Amino acid sequence: MNRTYLIKPVLDYDYPTAVYGEGIYLYDHTGKQYIDGSSGAVTASIGHRVKEVVEAMIAQANQVSFTYRSQFTNEPAEKLAKKLSEWAPGDLNWSFFVNSGSEATETAMKIAIQYWQERGYGRKNKVLSRWMSYHGITLGALSMSGHVLRRKRFIPLLEDFPSASPPYCYRCPFNSTYPGCNLMCAKELETAIKRIGAENIAAFIAEPIIGASGGAVTPPDGYYQEIKAICERNEILFIADEVMTGIGRTGKRFAVEHWGVVPDLIALGKGMSAGYTPIAATLVSDRVMEPILRGSKAIMAGHTYSANPQSAAVSLAVLEYIEKHRLVEAAAEQGQYLMEKLQQLANMFEMVGDVRGKGLLLGMEFVADRLLKTPFHPETDVTNRIVARAFEKGLLVYPAAGGIDGAGDAVLIAPPLVIQKAEIDRLVSILEDTIREVE
Ligand code: PLP
Repeated sequence: MNRTYLIKPVLDYDYPTAVYGEGIYLYDHTGKQYIDGSSGAVTASIGHRVKEVVEAMIAQANQVSFTYRSQFTNEPAEKLAKKLSEWAPGDLNWSFFVNSGSEATETAMKIAIQYWQERGYGRKNKVLSRWMSYHGITLGALSMSGHVLRRKRFIPLLEDFPSASPPYCYRCPFNSTYPGCNLMCAKELETAIKRIGAENIAAFIAEPIIGASGGAVTPPDGYYQEIKAICERNEILFIADEVMTGIGRTGKRFAVEHWGVVPDLIALGKGMSAGYTPIAATLVSDRVMEPILRGSKAIMAGHTYSANPQSAAVSLAVLEYIEKHRLVEAAAEQGQYLMEKLQQLANMFEMVGDVRGKGLLLGMEFVADRLLKTPFHPETDVTNRIVARAFEKGLLVYPAAGGIDGAGDAVLIAPPLVIQKAEIDRLVSILEDTIREVE
């Protein structure tokens, strides 16, 4: 009996023990090979056991692994911050390092509130978000998350931050279609702002492409431009939660670049270290830092391990690897190929309702009736059956909650950015066998 994970297993049997990884493959204690078709939780974006990262890890450990951020700065953290400012759009030139995506979004929320306080607007301390979103599991991050299932147990402790509908064209919350809809989902944000009062709101947070709570739900063109304009008009900061979408995953360095929008703050995690070490970051624009640097001079956030040199050196090696092997461009190219293959599966199987996403962050939603888009009855447990059957066949895909109420069925397909076409063919062939068995 495994005792490490005190969570309900996704699979209906004991977890195998992972012992080895190589490129897009993982191997368990029996020697069985798995295609890491989801990069774990959309994390291992450069694949497993990359020599350059392992070497950077050892080299840094041979110098110093830990220093505390209020006593020293360190070279890897400074270099990493510089690299991130080169990668980031616009004036997002500052990095605040943390250890997980939840900490990155929660820190972004705190910095947004602090920004307004430093400017003398102490009442602006709410953060608006959307339903069908996930920003993390700690209480602040969960308050912002419109993930019905993950909120349920803790509702008495949470703020009511989700207040806008997601840009979910497949099941439009307004029963409309793009472009005739006139982007009602974006405009709804302004209605929510009016109801709550802009004078009470610090920021709006959104995942550029909705990951775990939607299955790569991608907004229509114009949506983020409209969102940014609404935020600016109402003097509200825009936080892009790029924990899942950032660092090349969608075929751009940051997913917001698909729509040419520059956020005020960006939360990063996952692909930032590609799983080699826990590190995450909140990127802060010059505009937001300015009153803080002029005022209290210190961001009121941080953790013991923030900006530790060991994790920073690893993350830096990952970013250099992505640059050297042009993996952002690879994600765009291989993602297009994978998308075509998944669309072919959609033509073969009635239960595939929608295929969506960008780059190598793709999602598939399953339905009982394709014409009517009727979801499966929750008891049929389709998502977990797909995940479990694929796992048995040696393919990892990530379960996502489809539907605004979280009761639908979807999976994320998000292999490491190093995947090759022949490997995509194998991934898709296993997925095809899996869907055939579950249908
Ligand atoms: N934000 C997004 C968009 C995520 O997908 C996740 C995790 O899945 C998080 C935040 C939380 O990150 P972490 O699990 O590293 O705390």
